[in-house]
Amino acid sequence: MSRFFSAKYDGLEPYVPGEQPRKSQFIKLNTNESPFPAAPEAMRMAQEAVADLQLYSDPECRILTEMAARKLDVAEDQLIFTNGSDEILNYAFMAFCDGGRTAVFPDITYGFYKVFAAVNGVPYREIPLREDLSVNADDFIGLNQTVFIANPNAPTGLALGRDDIERIVRGNPNSVVVVDEAYVDFGGESAVPLIEKYENLLVTQTFSKSRSMAGARLGLGIGNADLIRDLNTLRFSTNPYNVNRMTMAAGVGALKEEEYFARNCRLICQTRDWAAEQLRSLGFELTDSKANFLFVRHPSIGGAALYQRLRDSGILVRHFEGERIRDYNRITVGSRGQMMALLAALKRILEEEK
Ligand code: PMP
Repeated sequence: MSRFFSAKYDGLEPYVPGEQPRKSQFIKLNTNESPFPAAPEAMRMAQEAVADLQLYSDPECRILTEMAARKLDVAEDQLIFTNGSDEILNYAFMAFCDGGRTAVFPDITYGFYKVFAAVNGVPYREIPLREDLSVNADDFIGLNQTVFIANPNAPTGLALGRDDIERIVRGNPNSVVVVDEAYVDFGGESAVPLIEKYENLLVTQTFSKSRSMAGARLGLGIGNADLIRDLNTLRFSTNPYNVNRMTMAAGVGALKEEEYFARNCRLICQTRDWAAEQLRSLGFELTDSKANFLFVRHPSIGGAALYQRLRDSGILVRHFEGERIRDYNRITVGSRGQMMALLAALKRILEEEK
């Protein structure tokens, strides 16, 4: 730290993203990226956009907004686009949390929430998941604090139904409930149809996972027009050109290719369910993941040890040091071939552990 760093960031612990190795010899199953390339039309349109790079991007994201509004069956003023969904989550902490309305989220969830709270000087409270790592919706009712729920949750992959989400939204009428749907396209139930009914619901989604565009950084928020206006006040006060030309064009291209998108989601779910079966037959215990990753532990090897053994075998997964989850590893669902290599490595490692 330099002697110039503002005292307001004393002790700030930044988020630690999953490793992005420079060498591609790893089978990379650690940051929930898609094994499939972005849609052909997304790539073509991004390339075309390069010709106009001397011009700023459209701060209103008009074409993308029109298309997404039609797809999601919402009004254009109920949408905002951001530089990945991390950016809209940060805006939500900035906009809807303060000393009076603090942040509340599960004790085991997306690790960035704590950091967003800290960087914005917002106190937060963590509510423990149940013993089986599921969210108990009842624990989130009547808090009247700003609630952040990843649904499906990460790193557990467990999802709440729309009814439970609705109970939480209805149960906190004087604060915003943010539902982070980064993984919703792999079997979750979206809360978007509820935004018309509840002025305090903000749903966030991303093109990073199901639309294979993690490297482009495109996220969105869906909610009541007044909430979106607040978020835009902050966006225009920090970074109005937050979505660059190439990403915006790629987003439009991706939305034109619904069949490609649906097929990839289907394939990932099939591979997930098949890999889960295979892992169970090797003695792994798994949560019932509705995301593009599996959360697994094995009675005969610790989480950190397994992480390291896989790494030594050229396979990267994600291990977290949290007290209740350190026996687990989170494994992104890759291609069939990648999952076969993973299973072969696991078989060998378990054999050697005997
Ligand atoms: N929410 C959750 C639960 C996530 O796991 C991630 C991915 N790290 C994000 C949001 C942010 O993703 P992105 O910024 O790529 O949209």
